[in-house]
Amino acid sequence: MGSYSSAVRQSCPNTDCQFYGRTKWGNIKKNGVFKLKRGRRQRYCCSACGQTFCSTTATPYHRIQYSRNKFDEVCHLSVEGLSKSAIARVKGLTWNTVARWLERASAAAGRFNDHKLNGYPLQEIQADEIRTFLDRRKSPIWVITLIEVWSRLWPSCVVGRRSYRNIRRLFRETLSRAQLSGPPLITTDGFEPYSWVIQRLFGPACVYGQVIKTRRKNRVVDIARRLLIGTDNSLEEALQNSEDSETLNTSFIERHNLTLRRSCPYLQRRTNAHARETDRLEESLELLRCYYNFIRPHMALKFGRRFKTPAMQAGLTARPLTFRQIFLDRFFIAILLFWLNRAFSFRSRVAA
Ligand SMILES: [Zn+2]
Repeated sequence: MGSYSSAVRQSCPNTDCQFYGRTKWGNIKKNGVFKLKRGRRQRYCCSACGQTFCSTTATPYHRIQYSRNKFDEVCHLSVEGLSKSAIARVKGLTWNTVARWLERASAAAGRFNDHKLNGYPLQEIQADEIRTFLDRRKSPIWVITLIEVWSRLWPSCVVGRRSYRNIRRLFRETLSRAQLSGPPLITTDGFEPYSWVIQRLFGPACVYGQVIKTRRKNRVVDIARRLLIGTDNSLEEALQNSEDSETLNTSFIERHNLTLRRSCPYLQRRTNAHARETDRLEESLELLRCYYNFIRPHMALKFGRRFKTPAMQAGLTARPLTFRQIFLDRFFIAILLFWLNRAFSFRSRVAA
């Protein structure tokens, strides 16, 4: 790696700069180095605007004392279901370092989700809840999730009480970023507030059904299907258009919930690693959502020899991404620098 090429591959992260986000314009010069525990890192300077930065400025990798690979591996272990203590043991880090890294990673993943999960098609929706608990078994909490069945995309989830308000929030969030081409087919369990929310948000512009399972001694003894919005004909048509469903069902969201239970250490059954605070659970789910949608090839999306990610199927990205690409995304670096600059100039104004 030549010294020239490393500067040429950098782009100016200053949004006000004419060369913002562009590489190979000759405006980036090397600007000294600084020492890390494990070597040195190059600093750069943009000759057009004078902004100085290094390749990790305002990313989750900023000022970590270990390699970026190690950081990415910690994120990977976390979204494959390992608890923080287990990751700390495997990677030879302290628990605090793992917790701090995961907090940073999920903040970056959350920004990425907000920005990239936009304009996905909505054809068939299934929604469901996962019950878990905080601190002691006495305080149950619900993770309300929703997927788009055709693409297996997981656009949003809400953590909290199992209430009308939270379900409305979930559907509003999903709808505000979706592209609707026709009336979607929506299926949920028999929880009453779903029908109120869907009636209110969609009106007659959807086909909505409930699948109600009766359990006895933990075994399903009866399945009832109720069509609540739409006619038998419109349901028939929706099911014919669906590539996945042949009847009203919630199997896809139930399978998805299983993936969540296996991938999120807080949600595993009979675990002693349950979340103590809502924030930690939300954090972990945000990172997992990013991983699930953009990085992890989905086994149900096989095309020839290739597995697609849900985001590829929904037309949001062209290939599976990596944690590195997500954490180094220049768009967010620009936003973060903007706020850092503002905070700094505010402080210096107060000092003056
Ligand atoms: Zn610049």
